[in-house]
Amino acid sequence: MLRKKIKATKELNQIMSDYYHELDNASKSDNKKVAWCSSVGPAEILRSLDFNVYFPENHSAMLGSSRMATDLIPYANAIGYSPEICSYLTADIGAYLKQVTPLSKAYPDIKSTPKPDVLVFNTNQCREVQDWFAWYANEFKVPLLGISTPRTVGEITDSHITFIAHQMEELVEDLEKIATISYDQNKLKTVLSLSRKCSDLWKQVLDTAANIPSPLTFFDGTIHMGPAVVLRGTQEANDYYQILLSELNERVTNGMAAVEDERYRLYWEGMPIWGRLKHYSELFASFKVCVVASTYCNSWIFSAFDENDPFRSMAKAYLELFIVRSDEYKESYIKNMKDFFKIDGIIFHDAKTCPHNTNSRYGMPQRIELDLGVPNLVINGDLNDTRCLSDEQSSVAIEAFIEQLES
Ligand code: SF4
Repeated sequence: MLRKKIKATKELNQIMSDYYHELDNASKSDNKKVAWCSSVGPAEILRSLDFNVYFPENHSAMLGSSRMATDLIPYANAIGYSPEICSYLTADIGAYLKQVTPLSKAYPDIKSTPKPDVLVFNTNQCREVQDWFAWYANEFKVPLLGISTPRTVGEITDSHITFIAHQMEELVEDLEKIATISYDQNKLKTVLSLSRKCSDLWKQVLDTAANIPSPLTFFDGTIHMGPAVVLRGTQEANDYYQILLSELNERVTNGMAAVEDERYRLYWEGMPIWGRLKHYSELFASFKVCVVASTYCNSWIFSAFDENDPFRSMAKAYLELFIVRSDEYKESYIKNMKDFFKIDGIIFHDAKTCPHNTNSRYGMPQRIELDLGVPNLVINGDLNDTRCLSDEQSSVAIEAFIEQLES
């Protein structure tokens, strides 16, 4: 085993199982409500109104990692969704049309994804989530609500925050009607404070990778980020991250490396390649290279959450995200990451169907290399559609890149 196993995975599997079973029960019950939410959507508002919150992107990542996605995408293509667009969207709609789900593989008693009572998106990450959710809103004949966010934001101003905060406040009235309970500010504050704690713990987990050798890899991060995505705002997520953090701190104290004899440290910019996590994790580890950090895993850090100013702080936190910012901001962010994590090189993943999480198409790798003197490599692939990647080509390119680091 080239990459050390994390013991807390056992607890992770348990809380993810509990989460999906609770959703399944809510979907079958008449008095519990299910809200579908985009991954960086207003989950805290939904939780404060007692919705069970389901994240279709997590389901799509499961479709990718279980390697079901590529075969399902054509079913969505056949009803008009282009093979060129988000393969989370096409794989997920394809799975629905075929009535299959990786949830049934993981949990045989769960037969389908939970039915929504409402769908809530935030276009901070992309417009695709709106189109994706609109299809299901029409399919299930349930309301579609959302927040529209400005894009390529440089400096975040007060008017940006006011614009988003208003939209968040306006959601409440419609959501109250669907939830059939009244909004309670104290409940929102409690959820928000739990969510902030989750974000702080998740940041501490990721920051352990600044140690040399790193106790954690990006590939571990893609798996252990589950609770930060789907259970933020709950005590369960926070309890889990305490366990994981203790284990990683213990590794740091004992000088235990995630990748034995770590020689080089890389940064991963862009989406994971869900169907090939094991392949790339083992490939890098075979060269004693640790991919220590990524933009992707860091995207579930929401340090602006403040229970004393719930709507404005949520507006700021969900607007501060890397994905929604200007290239200038992104380049300075990557520079900070390079310094903090002591990075020797950067891998840019050009994900064919996700332009929003692909930053290699407008000269950024070249500018960063000139500016920081850090070499980088662009690999072509995709988050879910394995037809868009060639393991052979990428492996040869990665090997050559590591030779370049050596020289
Ligand atoms: S950010 Fe990319 S992968 Fe995620 S939903 Fe939008 S288009 Fe799809």
